[in-house]
Amino acid sequence: MAAEARVFIGIGSNLGDRAAHVGFATTRLSRLPRTRLLRVSPWYLSKAVGPGAQGDYLNGVAELRSTLTPYTLLQALHDIERAAGRIRAERWGPRTLDLDLLLHGQTCVDVPRLQVPHPRLAERNFVVFPLSDLAPSLMLPGGQRLQSLRARMSDGDLERLGSAGGTHDGAA
Ligand code: ADP
Ligand code: MG
Repeated sequence: MAAEARVFIGIGSNLGDRAAHVGFATTRLSRLPRTRLLRVSPWYLSKAVGPGAQGDYLNGVAELRSTLTPYTLLQALHDIERAAGRIRAERWGPRTLDLDLLLHGQTCVDVPRLQVPHPRLAERNFVVFPLSDLAPSLMLPGGQRLQSLRARMSDGDLERLGSAGGTHDGAA
């Protein structure tokens, strides 16, 4: 059995019932095989960066422990996105659910369909802020401290919502 990795998943929705979609995502993450969902960050509202006028995003980060490989996890994330009704129309277009594999322990992957750490992690405040809510002392692969990344980052239009995700009841 492979060692358990500390895994972080970025969760976002800017279409339809966003709260329902992110809730669906955390439930499905809690049911993945060989995986425990430990915690979900507080939720944030962020402005869409994609083309055209789009609704604001609801964003958060989930912390898992998993023995699944990064590739198997990516496949599972795509399955959950599809189950939430996501249609891949245009890149960075509005979506019911976006699930990104942000970090998989200290593992680095760089193949065309999967890059870990997620290539845009360090430039997205809607990822860095909830991630550092969960793991302020995290060291990124390559040796960069999450804390110093956050210290240099503007919170811009990011709006932190009141209700923290906290410990997930469904953790196996
Ligand atoms: P984004 O998440 O950047 O807004 P998409 O969700 O449309 O963009 O993802 C586009 C592609 O990115 C997916 O088909 C997927 O294969 C690829 N990808 C590469 N690395 C990752 C990762 N770490 N997590 C999720 N998707 C990834
Ligand atoms: Mg994505």
